[in-house]
Amino acid sequence: MKSKIVGSIFAHASGDYLGMPVEFASTPAQVQDFFGSEGIRPIDTNSRGTKPAGYYTDDTAMMLCLAQSLIDKGFDTLDQFQKYKKWAFEGYMSADGKTSFGIGQNTLRKLMWQKPEEIPTAIHSNDKEGGNGALMRCLPIGLIYHNNTDDVVDKSIKSALVTHNNTIAVWTTVVFNTLITYCLHNIEKEGFVSKLATEPYYKNIPAEIKKVLDRLGNLKTEELKTSGYSLNTLEVALHSFFSSDSLEAAIKASIGFGGDTDTQGAVTGGLAGAYYGYEAIPKEWTAHLLNKELMQEISDKIASISLSTPNT
Ligand SMILES: [Mg+2]
Repeated sequence: MKSKIVGSIFAHASGDYLGMPVEFASTPAQVQDFFGSEGIRPIDTNSRGTKPAGYYTDDTAMMLCLAQSLIDKGFDTLDQFQKYKKWAFEGYMSADGKTSFGIGQNTLRKLMWQKPEEIPTAIHSNDKEGGNGALMRCLPIGLIYHNNTDDVVDKSIKSALVTHNNTIAVWTTVVFNTLITYCLHNIEKEGFVSKLATEPYYKNIPAEIKKVLDRLGNLKTEELKTSGYSLNTLEVALHSFFSSDSLEAAIKASIGFGGDTDTQGAVTGGLAGAYYGYEAIPKEWTAHLLNKELMQEISDKIASISLSTPNT
């Protein structure tokens, strides 16, 4: 279990930084051109400012903010919001310690203008808030509350709402974190979708997300849409994970589609890391990762909270 928890956090960060250089290369051919014959790998790049290999983006920084908040305060959306602000305006948890690299427009707007007392506690869906920002950071909730389905649902929703008040954005985090719990509990991935259909809250999942789940396995890769929309990103991540049989193949597939490549790599990485464990991550990938000591410390603390959580 510990290997899965630590692996999940490190694979999320690895998928993020591996996809970062090609985030704006929108086609599979452009991704292939960029990495050349050696394929997707850690690479120093000038494609988005000069960045060393291992430079992760908003996806990992915000995921670490959430993880640190859960460690410091238990579940406290105000503290989550404050830590995200500290990241946005001071570079807290960022790769270089000063830049909120990759920050999304909706997230920036919320972190600038939303007052603490305005953090929503119920969904009033706003069309403009369906982006990837909640899905890409939600992982620590599944890792910590894996023994309590009600907590996974309730806390995924409330945590997503801090910046994304949108039915799809919110429910992609519930589905994702539920699958994280299946990974931690050693359920074979072939059984994930049928098990999900037995969850008490399954009826509440929006039809668009159910459609993604129903067509998994029958989808042609050319039908996949890549974008900053959480529904598309969930589908790319699930497709990459279910149609491959290793962590490395899953993450590379998710980046290879082009589009929002760092987020696709991060979301796929979180899932694949929780399924295959830390040892499945190529050593070259973790070797390049920036701030790995910090990430190790956070992962160890998350693991110790997670492993001491009673089964309810
Ligand atoms: Mg990013």
